[in-house]
Amino acid sequence: MTQPTFSNLTWHSGTVTRADREQLLGQKGVTVWFTGLSASGKSTIACLVEQRLIERKKHAYRLDGDNIRMGLNKNLGFSAEDRAENIRRIGEVARLFTDAGSIVLASFVSPYRKDRDAVRAGLQPGEFIEVYVKVSIEEAAKRDPKGLYKKALSGQIKGFTGIDDPYEAPTTPEILIDTETCDPGAAAEQIVSYLERSGYLRN
Ligand code: ADP
Repeated sequence: MTQPTFSNLTWHSGTVTRADREQLLGQKGVTVWFTGLSASGKSTIACLVEQRLIERKKHAYRLDGDNIRMGLNKNLGFSAEDRAENIRRIGEVARLFTDAGSIVLASFVSPYRKDRDAVRAGLQPGEFIEVYVKVSIEEAAKRDPKGLYKKALSGQIKGFTGIDDPYEAPTTPEILIDTETCDPGAAAEQIVSYLERSGYLRN
């Protein structure tokens, strides 16, 4: 990991290296970052990818929007500033897990391009795979598994992404999943094949 410099702080390196951990796990550490509107299918697809990787004896770990907001980020709301801090902290956690050698499956709406790009910039080239989980706002509002669109459309929730807050779609994601033409199983397969083809599933 590249280390920033801080006054009076010194990074303490151990004797076990990243390569040692990756060899132990038989894989490469990487962050797979799922972005898309609420109800696009990020969590559904990430859960399937996790299941398939574990079946193949690969170490994967999910970081998921609501779960993180119930713990690590429970003091943050949905203003642009808090959304940026939410993603910054998650980016740091993803960086640590990636360094540990895990395959991180991070599903967050992460609506702002600059916040996602900052996470990418904190990782080495090839350690950040952006997956754009695409859905139209009409279809997302129709799925509405948590009833959030109903609330946002009736004004009970303010600043909801896609309704009265912007979503900046990735322009060059490594993987694009159009969930209106691709079912969750096929989407998971597409992602696992990408990891396999790109050499992440061996050390
Ligand atoms: P997000 O994590 O993006 O908020 P969820 O995975 O929680 O979204 O919810 C997506 C909902 O849409 C689920 O109920 C899922 O079953 C449904 N769904 C319908 N078609 C698809 C698809 N092609 N891909 C992913 N999810 C889909």
